[in-house]
Amino acid sequence: MGKETSQQGEMISFDAAREKMLSGIHRVTETEIVELEHLLGRVLAEDVPARLDVPNHANSAMDGYAVRSADLAGMGEVRLRVVSDLAAGGYFTPELGPGEAVRIMTGAPIPWGSDQVVIQEVCYRDQDGVRLPCGVKPGDHVRQAGEDMRVGDCVLRGGKRLKPADIGILAAQGIDQVAVFRRVRVAILSTGNEVVEVTTPLRPGQVHDSNRAGLKAALRVLGCEVLDFGIVGDDLGTIEKALERASHEADAIISTGGVSVGDYDLVRLALENRGTIDFWKVAMKPGKPQAYGRLGQAVFFGLPGNPVAGLTVFYVLIRPALFRLMGGGKWPNKVLKATFKGHFAKKHLRREFLRGILTFEPEGLGVEMTGPQGSGILTSMSRANALIVLPEGPVTVTSGDLVDVWMMDDE
Ligand code: AMP
Ligand code: MG
Repeated sequence: MGKETSQQGEMISFDAAREKMLSGIHRVTETEIVELEHLLGRVLAEDVPARLDVPNHANSAMDGYAVRSADLAGMGEVRLRVVSDLAAGGYFTPELGPGEAVRIMTGAPIPWGSDQVVIQEVCYRDQDGVRLPCGVKPGDHVRQAGEDMRVGDCVLRGGKRLKPADIGILAAQGIDQVAVFRRVRVAILSTGNEVVEVTTPLRPGQVHDSNRAGLKAALRVLGCEVLDFGIVGDDLGTIEKALERASHEADAIISTGGVSVGDYDLVRLALENRGTIDFWKVAMKPGKPQAYGRLGQAVFFGLPGNPVAGLTVFYVLIRPALFRLMGGGKWPNKVLKATFKGHFAKKHLRREFLRGILTFEPEGLGVEMTGPQGSGILTSMSRANALIVLPEGPVTVTSGDLVDVWMMDDE
């Protein structure tokens, strides 16, 4: 029995950790009305029914001639009289009569009486007429009214995180503001006597606070409001005070460092003293030591101090939890299979997340490691666009093996 198996009583599997975290999260309930310009990435609080047909009138999908298909029932060619010229934005009121055509541009409304558009490439215009090939194809090159959205249809579901096309839908509906869940407020703090501000010149043994900067960015990509609680030294009282303060202001608190088993790893203790702790060891690499729990109304995530570990845990565990808190439901984790290039063996029993470079080749997806995988090697994370996920248990992967890859989705 190795060291890890003997400690398994204290360790929780990755899947169990994720389940526990998600089941303890309740989405925010407060909503706010937000204007179109500021909706990107926000989570819709209610279903949006279409109040308009889109398009609101049948219109032409091509440049050409609007005709009555019945006029094209014969063989060979037919000559029709061109009675009007219709550009997008114009409209044609009289009903198209037999033997008549309207010169029509893409987006212009289909005249009454017409049910087909013949593309200009196959037509010959002369004087006041046009010669067209016969062929009855009602509906050809016609975008029907309401074919995209029909009054009363639900065009966007509550809980959807709004992306550019969604914002286009709202605009098409003439909707310039909509109810979304309020932003989730996430307090973030770094712990460690050796951790200093980015602008502080380093003394030997000190490290610039890269965690807070990176995680703040990750939170913003997700659409959270960040409350910056700075750096806190390895002192139990100070950590407790900071956490207490954060718990009054934030929906969630993220700390980095101080959750391991070293003499100065006090975050876990602080959480035990001031709130409740659910688990603190997850069978994953990197990121084994973690703290998860609650402080008052706020959910607490204690990340390890190693920069790669912190960000990895953020991507695979915290982001789905925060997404649920935001009202977004299940995180749309993108799991792919890719052909591994290289060689990697692990003996430990935890699930491992390697930093990978996923390539999209005509022959399929390929993936290789970014290089050294130490949990302090932040450049490995910067080069990566995906995580290679190796299952629990001893695993060896070599070139040609299919491996699971999770997208990081942050660029
Ligand atoms: P800890 O989890 O507190 O034991 O820290 C593990 C490692 O991560 C140590 O080498 C720390 O110096 C480093 N570390 C902790 N916090 C940060 C931070 N905010 N930015 C960069 N490195 C950190
Ligand atoms: Mg520390």
